Amino acid sequence: MRVMALGAHPDDVEICCGGTLARYSQEGSEVMMVSLTNGDKGHDTLPPEEIAAIRKKEFESSAAVIGAQAYCLGVLDEFLLDDVETRLALVDVIRSFRPDLLITHDPSGCHVDHRIASKLVFEAASLSYVTPVKTEHPAHPPIMPIYYMDTIGGVGFAPEEFVDISDTFAIKKEMLLHHESQIKAMGKRLSASLVDIIEITGRFRGLQAGVEYAEAFRPLRAALRVRTERLLP
Ligand SMILES: [Zn+2]
Repeated sequence: MRVMALGAHPDDVEICCGGTLARYSQEGSEVMMVSLTNGDKGHDTLPPEEIAAIRKKEFESSAAVIGAQAYCLGVLDEFLLDDVETRLALVDVIRSFRPDLLITHDPSGCHVDHRIASKLVFEAASLSYVTPVKTEHPAHPPIMPIYYMDTIGGVGFAPEEFVDISDTFAIKKEMLLHHESQIKAMGKRLSASLVDIIEITGRFRGLQAGVEYAEAFRPLRAALRVRTERLLP
Protein backbone atom coordinates (compact mmCIF):
# COMPACT_ATOMS: atom_id res chain seq x y z
CA MET A 1 0.00 0.00 0.00
CA ARG A 2 0.99 3.59 -0.55
CA VAL A 3 -0.28 5.71 2.31
CA MET A 4 -0.30 9.50 2.38
CA ALA A 5 -1.01 11.26 5.69
CA LEU A 6 -1.72 14.97 5.42
CA GLY A 7 -1.74 17.37 8.36
CA ALA A 8 -2.14 21.12 8.52
CA HIS A 9 1.05 21.58 10.57
CA PRO A 10 4.38 19.75 10.66
CA ASP A 11 3.57 17.81 13.87
CA ASP A 12 -0.10 16.95 13.30
CA VAL A 13 0.16 13.52 11.73
CA GLU A 14 2.61 12.38 14.41
CA ILE A 15 0.17 13.44 17.13
CA CYS A 16 -2.96 12.04 15.50
CA CYS A 17 -1.77 8.92 13.65
CA GLY A 18 1.99 8.44 14.16
CA GLY A 19 1.60 4.97 15.68
CA THR A 20 -0.50 3.83 12.74
CA LEU A 21 1.99 5.23 10.20
CA ALA A 22 4.75 3.35 12.04
CA ARG A 23 2.72 0.16 11.68
CA TYR A 24 2.12 0.73 7.96
CA SER A 25 5.83 1.25 7.51
CA GLN A 26 6.75 -1.87 9.52
CA GLU A 27 4.31 -3.90 7.42
CA GLY A 28 5.97 -2.82 4.17
CA SER A 29 3.79 0.08 3.02
CA GLU A 30 5.29 3.23 1.53
CA VAL A 31 4.37 6.22 3.67
CA MET A 32 4.45 9.90 2.79
CA MET A 33 3.80 12.55 5.45
CA VAL A 34 2.63 15.95 4.19
CA SER A 35 2.38 19.22 6.08
CA LEU A 36 0.19 21.72 4.26
CA THR A 37 1.53 24.76 6.12
CA ASN A 38 5.09 25.63 7.01
CA GLY A 39 4.28 26.08 10.71
CA ASP A 40 5.77 29.57 10.74
CA LYS A 41 3.51 30.81 13.58
CA GLY A 42 4.68 28.02 15.87
CA HIS A 43 6.78 30.22 18.11
CA ASP A 44 6.06 33.40 20.06
CA THR A 45 9.48 35.04 19.68
CA LEU A 46 11.42 33.50 16.78
CA PRO A 47 10.94 35.16 13.35
CA PRO A 48 8.51 33.23 11.11
CA GLU A 49 11.15 32.23 8.51
CA GLU A 50 13.44 30.94 11.24
CA ILE A 51 10.85 28.77 12.97
CA ALA A 52 9.58 27.51 9.60
CA ALA A 53 13.11 26.31 8.72
CA ILE A 54 13.49 24.66 12.14
CA ARG A 55 10.13 22.92 11.83
CA LYS A 56 10.89 21.63 8.33
CA LYS A 57 14.00 19.90 9.70
CA GLU A 58 12.06 18.55 12.69
CA PHE A 59 9.38 17.19 10.36
CA GLU A 60 11.95 15.50 8.13
CA SER A 61 13.75 13.95 11.13
CA SER A 62 10.45 12.67 12.48
CA ALA A 63 9.49 11.07 9.16
CA ALA A 64 12.94 9.49 8.92
CA VAL A 65 12.24 7.55 12.15
CA ILE A 66 9.79 5.35 10.20
CA GLY A 67 11.48 5.68 6.80
CA ALA A 68 8.66 7.88 5.47
CA GLN A 69 8.96 10.61 2.89
CA ALA A 70 8.23 14.12 4.16
CA TYR A 71 6.86 16.98 2.10
CA CYS A 72 5.96 20.49 3.23
CA LEU A 73 3.59 22.33 0.90
CA GLY A 74 4.68 25.62 2.50
CA VAL A 75 1.42 27.57 2.88
CA LEU A 76 1.62 30.21 5.65
CA ASP A 77 0.57 28.84 9.04
CA GLU A 78 -2.85 30.08 10.28
CA PHE A 79 -3.78 31.12 6.73
CA LEU A 80 -4.53 27.85 4.96
CA LEU A 81 -7.24 28.64 2.41
CA ASP A 82 -9.32 26.48 0.11
CA ASP A 83 -8.43 28.38 -3.05
CA VAL A 84 -7.56 27.33 -6.60
CA GLU A 85 -3.79 27.72 -6.15
CA THR A 86 -3.68 25.57 -3.00
CA ARG A 87 -6.00 22.93 -4.45
CA LEU A 88 -3.85 22.54 -7.56
CA ALA A 89 -0.64 22.41 -5.53
CA LEU A 90 -2.13 19.66 -3.38
CA VAL A 91 -3.47 17.78 -6.41
CA ASP A 92 0.06 17.68 -7.79
CA VAL A 93 1.51 16.39 -4.51
CA ILE A 94 -1.08 13.59 -4.49
CA ARG A 95 -0.38 12.78 -8.13
CA SER A 96 3.38 12.73 -7.50
CA PHE A 97 3.07 10.01 -4.82
CA ARG A 98 0.09 8.10 -6.30
CA PRO A 99 -1.37 6.91 -2.98
CA ASP A 100 -3.83 4.08 -2.39
CA LEU A 101 -5.18 5.69 0.77
CA LEU A 102 -5.28 9.16 2.31
CA ILE A 103 -5.43 10.08 6.01
CA THR A 104 -6.21 13.59 7.16
CA HIS A 105 -7.95 15.79 9.74
CA ASP A 106 -11.57 15.39 10.74
CA PRO A 107 -13.76 18.27 9.50
CA SER A 108 -14.51 19.12 13.16
CA GLY A 109 -10.87 19.87 14.00
CA CYS A 110 -10.00 22.32 16.79
CA HIS A 111 -7.91 24.63 14.60
CA VAL A 112 -9.09 26.50 11.49
CA ASP A 113 -6.13 25.12 9.49
CA HIS A 114 -7.19 21.58 10.45
CA ARG A 115 -10.77 22.16 9.28
CA ILE A 116 -9.62 23.72 6.00
CA ALA A 117 -7.05 20.91 5.51
CA SER A 118 -9.83 18.33 5.86
CA LYS A 119 -11.88 20.01 3.13
CA LEU A 120 -8.86 20.64 0.90
CA VAL A 121 -7.76 17.01 0.98
CA PHE A 122 -11.25 15.82 -0.03
CA GLU A 123 -11.41 18.39 -2.85
CA ALA A 124 -7.87 17.68 -4.07
CA ALA A 125 -8.47 13.92 -3.96
CA SER A 126 -11.56 14.50 -6.11
CA LEU A 127 -9.55 16.52 -8.63
CA SER A 128 -6.50 14.27 -8.77
CA TYR A 129 -8.20 11.74 -11.11
CA VAL A 130 -9.72 14.38 -13.39
CA THR A 131 -7.52 14.33 -16.49
CA PRO A 132 -8.47 17.79 -17.84
CA VAL A 133 -7.23 19.32 -14.57
CA LYS A 134 -3.59 19.78 -15.51
CA THR A 135 -0.68 19.88 -13.09
CA GLU A 136 2.96 18.85 -13.44
CA HIS A 137 2.19 15.13 -12.84
CA PRO A 138 -0.40 13.10 -14.76
CA ALA A 139 -3.82 12.29 -13.30
CA HIS A 140 -4.03 9.56 -10.64
CA PRO A 141 -7.07 7.45 -11.58
CA PRO A 142 -8.18 5.68 -8.35
CA ILE A 143 -10.98 7.18 -6.29
CA MET A 144 -9.03 6.91 -3.06
CA PRO A 145 -10.55 6.05 0.31
CA ILE A 146 -9.96 8.78 2.89
CA TYR A 147 -9.71 8.22 6.64
CA TYR A 148 -10.19 10.97 9.18
CA MET A 149 -7.72 10.73 12.06
CA ASP A 150 -8.65 11.52 15.66
CA THR A 151 -8.88 15.14 16.76
CA ILE A 152 -6.34 16.62 19.18
CA GLY A 153 -7.31 15.20 22.57
CA GLY A 154 -10.16 13.22 20.96
CA VAL A 155 -12.71 16.01 21.41
CA GLY A 156 -15.91 15.64 19.37
CA PHE A 157 -14.63 12.61 17.47
CA ALA A 158 -16.72 9.44 17.23
CA PRO A 159 -14.28 6.65 16.26
CA GLU A 160 -15.43 3.89 13.94
CA GLU A 161 -12.15 1.98 13.63
CA PHE A 162 -9.19 1.58 15.96
CA VAL A 163 -5.56 0.66 15.34
CA ASP A 164 -3.61 -1.10 18.10
CA ILE A 165 -0.44 0.98 18.54
CA SER A 166 0.75 -0.67 21.77
CA ASP A 167 3.91 -1.85 19.97
CA THR A 168 4.52 1.42 18.10
CA PHE A 169 3.60 3.99 20.75
CA ALA A 170 7.30 4.38 21.65
CA ILE A 171 8.07 5.10 17.99
CA LYS A 172 5.23 7.64 17.83
CA LYS A 173 6.67 9.36 20.90
CA GLU A 174 10.16 9.34 19.37
CA MET A 175 8.73 10.99 16.24
CA LEU A 176 6.97 13.65 18.30
CA LEU A 177 10.11 14.38 20.32
CA HIS A 178 11.83 15.45 17.10
CA HIS A 179 9.47 18.45 17.18
CA GLU A 180 11.53 19.96 19.97
CA SER A 181 10.55 23.55 19.15
CA GLN A 182 6.87 22.70 19.53
CA ILE A 183 7.26 20.64 22.70
CA LYS A 184 8.57 23.85 24.31
CA ALA A 185 6.43 26.47 22.54
CA MET A 186 3.11 24.60 22.74
CA GLY A 187 3.74 23.65 26.37
CA LYS A 188 3.51 27.37 27.13
CA ARG A 189 0.73 28.21 24.69
CA LEU A 190 -1.64 25.29 25.35
CA SER A 191 -1.07 24.70 29.08
CA ALA A 192 -0.78 21.00 28.18
CA SER A 193 2.26 19.14 26.91
CA LEU A 194 2.14 17.46 23.52
CA VAL A 195 3.66 14.34 25.07
CA ASP A 196 0.82 14.21 27.63
CA ILE A 197 -1.70 14.68 24.82
CA ILE A 198 -0.47 11.62 22.90
CA GLU A 199 -0.03 9.56 26.08
CA ILE A 200 -3.49 10.29 27.49
CA THR A 201 -5.34 10.10 24.16
CA GLY A 202 -3.49 6.90 23.23
CA ARG A 203 -4.40 5.23 26.52
CA PHE A 204 -8.01 6.48 26.34
CA ARG A 205 -8.49 5.10 22.81
CA GLY A 206 -6.69 1.95 23.95
CA LEU A 207 -9.18 1.56 26.79
CA GLN A 208 -12.04 1.82 24.31
CA ALA A 209 -10.47 -0.79 22.03
CA GLY A 210 -9.30 -3.20 24.74
CA VAL A 211 -5.59 -2.72 24.13
CA GLU A 212 -2.86 -0.71 25.84
CA TYR A 213 -2.59 2.12 23.27
CA ALA A 214 -4.73 2.81 20.22
CA GLU A 215 -5.41 5.45 17.60
CA ALA A 216 -8.93 6.17 16.36
CA PHE A 217 -10.24 6.80 12.85
CA ARG A 218 -13.40 7.08 10.83
CA PRO A 219 -13.77 6.69 7.06
CA LEU A 220 -15.04 9.54 4.92
CA ARG A 221 -18.31 8.16 3.61
CA ALA A 222 -18.75 9.23 -0.01
CA ALA A 223 -19.68 7.29 -3.12
CA LEU A 224 -16.91 4.95 -4.34
CA ARG A 225 -14.58 5.93 -1.47
CA VAL A 226 -15.69 3.22 0.95
CA ARG A 227 -14.26 -0.29 0.81
CA THR A 228 -15.43 -3.69 2.00
CA GLU A 229 -12.00 -4.74 3.29
CA ARG A 230 -10.06 -3.41 6.27
CA LEU A 231 -7.48 -0.88 5.09
CA LEU A 232 -6.02 0.23 8.41
CA PRO A 233 -3.30 -1.95 10.02
ZN1 LIG B 1 -2.05 21.46 13.76
